[in-house]
Amino acid sequence: MNYHVLTLFPEMILDGMNTSIIGRAMAKGLLTLEAVNIRDYSVTGNGRIDDYPYGGGAGMVMQAEPVYRACRDVTERIGYSPRVICLTPQGRVFNQKMAQELAGEEDLIFLCGHYEGIDERVLEEIATDFISIGDYVLTGGELPAMVVMDAVSRMIPGVLSNQESGQSESFQDGLLEYPQYSRPEEWRGKKVPPVLLSGHHGNVDRWRRNQSLLRTLKIRPELLTRAELDKKDLKYLEALLLEEGEESPDENTKEFLTKLLAMKKKT
Ligand code: SAM
Repeated sequence: MNYHVLTLFPEMILDGMNTSIIGRAMAKGLLTLEAVNIRDYSVTGNGRIDDYPYGGGAGMVMQAEPVYRACRDVTERIGYSPRVICLTPQGRVFNQKMAQELAGEEDLIFLCGHYEGIDERVLEEIATDFISIGDYVLTGGELPAMVVMDAVSRMIPGVLSNQESGQSESFQDGLLEYPQYSRPEEWRGKKVPPVLLSGHHGNVDRWRRNQSLLRTLKIRPELLTRAELDKKDLKYLEALLLEEGEESPDENTKEFLTKLLAMKKKT
């Protein structure tokens, strides 16, 4: 995977991506990263790339031509036009499925905005995807680009030392991941759930799956409506409705669960 980031702050991208797992993947040649400084394509030749918005209003707008030239420079060098991802709060909200899909590409160009944003005309011309990392506004597209690159990189074979750890994580199967424990067996009076010490792989897997279901139900119930659930999952969820005590869902959750089970049984 080759990342090409069009930005006003190349050092932010290079410094931010050069450590830990992603840094190692770059050193191994599994990923390459270039940060293209949009200022180098200033039409006035003095590094200025922004101007006042037509129609008035606060802030500045990144001009079309420097962005266009920076992008064209990349596409001419690599010999084709890959997907160009514009980071914007107005884009599709990023998720694991999108990360997986983008990981299949050979090259990706990221376009990071600043100030009030980028002249719409160049976006019409070059952008193929518009991605937001959430419903809030940041000062620039660099952090969002790094978020997307990090999530995509983890999906590329060889980037994670143990590929399995990418398989079982939150959202991979539409559910949140089960809780994790490590040594010691007892920490400040809190014990590791006994099933994890049993050495019985079948029981461990079932316990983890049930914990995933329970956690998703409590924190992100809407994910369950889209997740693929088998007979054992439905049986566990059904049993929760009758549960008394700590694990018993509250009344709202029970109502949701009843509707969910009815829907899943129909399909
Ligand atoms: N005026 C723009 C609007 O209301 O949509 C917001 C501009 S924002 C201050 C500057 C830049 O930060 C954007 O062009 C975009 O690249 C980036 N940005 C801010 N929030 C973002 C988010 N939630 N997801 C992706 N990019 C974001």
